[in-house]
This record gives sequence, C-alpha cells and structure tokens, in this order.
Amino acid sequence: MSTHCWIDVAVQTPAHTQVGGLLTYRSPFLVQPGVLVRVPFGPREVLGVVWAIRDRAPEDMPEANVRDVLGVLEGLPPLDMHWRQLVQFSAQYYQRSLGEVALSALPPQLRDLTSDQLARRLKKQNTMRKVQTSAGPTLSSEQSTVLAQMAEGSGPFLLFGSTGSGKTEVYLQAVERMLQADPQAQALLMVPEINLTPQLEERVQARFGSEAVVSMHSGMTPAQRLKGWLAAHAGHARIVLGTRMAIFASMPHLQLIVVDEEHDPSYKQQEGARYSARDLAVYRGRLHNAPVLLASATPSLESWHHSRPADADDSGGRYQRLLMPSRMGTGLLPKVRRVDMNKQPRRTVLSAPLVAAIQERVQRGEQCMLLLNRRGYAPVLHCADCGWKSECKHCSAFRVFHKIDRTLRCHHCGLTERVPRACPECGNADIAPIGRGTEQLEEHLGELLAHVLRPDGTPVRIARIDADTTRLKGALESQLAQVHSGEVDVLIGTQMIAKGHDFRRITLVAAVNPDTALFSSDFRAPERLFALLMQAAGRAGRDAAQSATSEMWVQTFHPTHALFEALKKHDYPAFAASELAERTAAELPPISHQALLRADARTQEAAQALLNAARQTLEAQLSADPTTQDLVLQVSVYPAVPMSMQRVADVERAQMLLESPNRMALQKMLWHLHAVLHQVRSQPEHKGVIRWLVDVDPQAI
Ligand code: ADP
Ligand code: ZN
Ligand code: ZN
Repeated sequence: MSTHCWIDVAVQTPAHTQVGGLLTYRSPFLVQPGVLVRVPFGPREVLGVVWAIRDRAPEDMPEANVRDVLGVLEGLPPLDMHWRQLVQFSAQYYQRSLGEVALSALPPQLRDLTSDQLARRLKKQNTMRKVQTSAGPTLSSEQSTVLAQMAEGSGPFLLFGSTGSGKTEVYLQAVERMLQADPQAQALLMVPEINLTPQLEERVQARFGSEAVVSMHSGMTPAQRLKGWLAAHAGHARIVLGTRMAIFASMPHLQLIVVDEEHDPSYKQQEGARYSARDLAVYRGRLHNAPVLLASATPSLESWHHSRPADADDSGGRYQRLLMPSRMGTGLLPKVRRVDMNKQPRRTVLSAPLVAAIQERVQRGEQCMLLLNRRGYAPVLHCADCGWKSECKHCSAFRVFHKIDRTLRCHHCGLTERVPRACPECGNADIAPIGRGTEQLEEHLGELLAHVLRPDGTPVRIARIDADTTRLKGALESQLAQVHSGEVDVLIGTQMIAKGHDFRRITLVAAVNPDTALFSSDFRAPERLFALLMQAAGRAGRDAAQSATSEMWVQTFHPTHALFEALKKHDYPAFAASELAERTAAELPPISHQALLRADARTQEAAQALLNAARQTLEAQLSADPTTQDLVLQVSVYPAVPMSMQRVADVERAQMLLESPNRMALQKMLWHLHAVLHQVRSQPEHKGVIRWLVDVDPQAI
C-alpha cells in the first residue's frame, strides 16, 4: 500500500472495557472525520465512524499491529462536526465510551447494508422535500406575544402554558417561520412517546405535508428507521418528529429544537448511556446556534429553576420564561374536588359521591376517566393463617395477582406462575388478595354501575387500558380509537392514559388513590404526581361546551396537603415554589447535582463492598494530591446502600450517591471515579461483582 493515512475510528466497544471507543487503523483511502467506514474488530467486521486523522503512526503500538480499514460507505456525506461534538459531549458527561454512544445513535440497519444496497437507498431519495404549508388559525394574543419573544431572544426558552393553551400551535408556527426564512432549515420536534400522541404526528403532517416530515421512535421497523435517518442526514427531511432517541438524529441544517412536555421522565434513557434528551437538546441548540423551546404545563423543577426571573440578590436563570396561561375556548379548567377518605367507611375504594358523579355523567352520555397507578388485580396475595405473602423468589418484590388468567406475576423479572390452590406454606385454602389494581377496580366499578343506563337505554360500557391490555402491537391504538369514537363510557387505567390524549368528551377525571406519592422515599415523587394530576385534569372538558361542568376528583386521606391545595387552584407556580423551598433546604436538585454509582452482584455485601472500596480509594487518592484535594470538599460521596428495589432476577443491587452544588466538580469526581473503579474491580476480592454503572442526573433515587 503506497498512499495511506492513520485514523482514529469510533467503534462499538463493550461497556466498561478499557478501550475508550476509539481505535487506530490504517486507511488506504483518503477520508475525513465523520465518514462511515468498515473496519476489522477482533474476528469481526464492524461499522465505525472516522473520528480523527492522525499525522503520524501511533507511538504506543507496533505498526504491524495496526489493521487496515476495509471499506468506506460511499455516497454518504460525513457526519458533521456538530453531531460529533454532541456525541463526544454525551459520552463524556454520561460516562460511557464514545464508540458506544456514536454507534447506538446510528440506525442499526446501516451496519448490515452492502455498498450497493446503500447506493440504491440513497438514489431513491435524492430530492429536497417540498414543504406545502397549509394555513394555521389566527393566533391568539398570547401566542403572538410568545412567538415575538422567540424572534427577539436567543433562548433557551421555557414555554409555561396551560394544557390546551395552544402550545402545539406555537411550535408549528415557529417551524413555519423558520422554514420560510431558510429553504434548507431543519427542525427537531421532540415528544415523550409518539404512539401515545398520534394526533400530533397527524397534525404536523397535515400542516407541512407528509413528504417533509419523518418520525423517529423505537416502534419503527429497522427499514423505516434507516429511511428516516437517511432523509434527515441528507437534509431532505425538514422536520424530524421523534422521541428521546431523535436527539442524536443527524441534521446538518438544524435550526430549531422543540421539546414538548419537557418534564416527562421518558426523556431520560434508562440503560446504556443514561442521557437526558431534554438536557442534550439545550446543549445541541447551543452547538448549532439554534433556538431551543422547552414546553410544558408543569415544567420540571430544573427548567423552572433555570428560568427564574432575576431579583435583587439573584441574577436569574439562563432560560427565558414565556407564558401562555389561558386555555383556548372558554378558558375554563375543571373544578377540582377532593374527597376526604377519612370520612368514608373503612376500606372504601370508590367513595359514594364519586360513584354518584360518574353515574350522572354516564346517564348524560359523557365520558369519565379513572386513574390508578397499579395494574393487575391485587398487588399481593396473603394467607391470614400463617402470614405468607406472594413474594417473588428472585426479587425483593411481591408478585401481583392477575385474576384474568389466575396468575401471580412479578412486574420486575416477569416470573409468572398459576395461583396456588392453597397457601404454599401451611395449606390453608383461604388465601386472599390485599390492595387493589386496575383489574379489580374495573370489576368493582362494573358491580357499582351495573344498573346504570346510558341515554339510549343501553348499559354502561367500562374499559381498561394499561400495560396488560396493550401488550399486543396495535392494541393501544385500537383501544384509544374506541374511546375517541365514544364506544366507552368509563375508562380505567394507569398513568399511560393521562398522557397527551385528546379525549374530547371526557368531563370527569378521578385519581382513585394518589396518596402513596406524597410520602415516597423518592424526592421527585410529588413533582411527578402533581404533573400527572394536572395533565389528567387537562384531559377533562377539552370541548368548550363542556368545560364549564368538567371536574377532576381526588380521593385522599390528606385533603389539605399543599400539593392538593395547589392542584385545586391549578397553581403550578405555587406548587413549584413550595417544592423548590424544600429542595433548597435539603440541598437537593435542582439546587445541587447528583450522580449514582450502582453495582450489581450475587450478594448485597459484594455489591456494597465494591462501592465502598471505590469510595475509600477515591478519597485517599484525591486527598493525597494537592491539585485534587478541593474535590473531596466539593463533592459528597455517601456510603453504599441497597437500592430500594434491592434484588431483581436474583441479582443484588447497591448504590452510592454523589452530590455537589458544583456540576463541574461532580464531573471531575466522576472522571477520577471511573479510573478508580477499573482499578478496584480488578482486585480479586471483588470478583463477585457482575457489573457497575453510573447514572448522571438520575431521575429516581
Ligand atoms: P396545547 O398544545 O397547549 O395543549 P393545542 O395547541 O393543542 O394546545 O391547542 C388546543 C386547541 O386549541 C386545539 O384544538 C387547537 O387546534 C386549538 N387552537 C390552538 N391555537 C388556536 C388559535 N390560534 N385559534 C383557534 N384555535 C386554536
Ligand atoms: Zn399460610
Ligand atoms: Zn421477580
């Protein structure tokens, strides 16, 4: 080989190997960074991204050991600098290998395509998609103001707007203006879960033409994903509508990022690189010099805090807060009614006034929605004689009783067994369910409403939507369609049904038993509950004609709790202020920053031992070095504890919390910790450890 160059290539390396994800190869082809190549990796041939060109051979490696690049994916423009910076930052910030982040951001099918196949795919779509914008409605004054503020400022923006205030219309108009100003511009529209919001997909396509829009989410086939990715990468797709994975879409002409329902926990990836797509959106916007619009009716406390106005002793947040308080139509939000469960007969599931209200609405031909955060029939089976409970033998959790197929199922490891005829411990035949899930609620409500008739004299129709009823592909869509077309009078479900659906005829929403979240060990539980209830309330009375009579019911043993007081007034700022005051006092996020180190092992002792050894080694090393002594003071590293779900599928899990008011210091600490972990893990006494992982800015503690 006469002409060649040395290149560093990002390849998918197994997590936690010492290899950082960049490998050096010799290339007979002239390439530039961002080009996709095929390279040998062990005995295999894998896809890689050229990351850097070296001006000379690597010094730490005999030349003979450097292998040759096998081929270049012809016809694909290189992944641009912004994309590579985004990947590099994500890998660094979330403590994963560069190769892993880079390769998992590409559509899987790209790995298997031959050059010919790729050429054919590329040929099919080398046209700039035409955008045919159809006219939107005349803007409300709030919408016009917000769009004007966006045009003047540079962002990031936090749009705080009520459900139904017309936020989606603002996104569409912002996209439209951007497309008009630049014939190449691309926009990224992110949503928590696409299959829950098919209306939005339709609305965007209706406005800009289906040619100009591509979707990106995990429900697509590999071929669809590749097609969408290529269209975005080539600049043909003008609008990418997607879930968190879409944050890594290659979009060379990206000029606007919108994050809808920015508070939604599903923006945080829960495996591999545990990135927050919302946070990366802000970072990516800065890279591209593109405005970023985060929007919600119940913003995350992080974004709320970052958008706080300046006052006498605080220069304010980095985000610009935009407001749309009014609802379209009549502007009325449903009346919130609290039922004090202390005054109900013991063990009441559905209180008499709530049942009466549901009955009244069914008789008028209106729809109701009941929320309960537990699927299955009953969370546990119990023997009153010996105290046996339906524990999972592999997890620190109870198996849930599902009456429909008479099984006990573990919601963590999946272990499913038929319900025993008698207590497995003492043989007592009288084993009974305790607590209630959606399945039992459905049965119970059926009995309570058995005599109730609809306006046309037919019996009431009750339906349930949860993870159990929607397991089959397409099941969720068809069940939602039934609700929309009015074939259901009372809908029962988990939080799944509160998200995003535009159920126009629902006039009553009820939270059956929301109290557990008030006293959870997870400090974010109240924030999630408030968002869920506000969102659910927003489902009621979307039709102007009915919004005056629509209601949100809450059954609670703590009716005067501040969370419900704020809910009653639909007052997110009041809730946020009280919650932020508590977080400030306790030095919790968003005031401080956190990371979790987790270890999995066969025994809890082994898992904790690794974490505690890492902690001691880390503090000893850092304290001994004058350049790092400060870090020990700036970052608190807490002793290892069992995770709240301590055992899953026979694996014991422990965690260690790191906390600091200073994000940079925490990042530095994690960097040192990474090296220490490799060191400690290789010691013989830590052989029992299965894996460890780091979660930066964890969403659950
Ligand atoms: P959000 O996203 O804040 O929940 P939407 O954008 O979905 O609100 O708007 C709520 C309803 O109001 C939708 O049916 C939408 O079509 C309608 N709408 C939005 N903006 C306008 C407007 N300027 N004029 C008339 N109707 C509007
Ligand atoms: Zn028993
Ligand atoms: Zn289990």
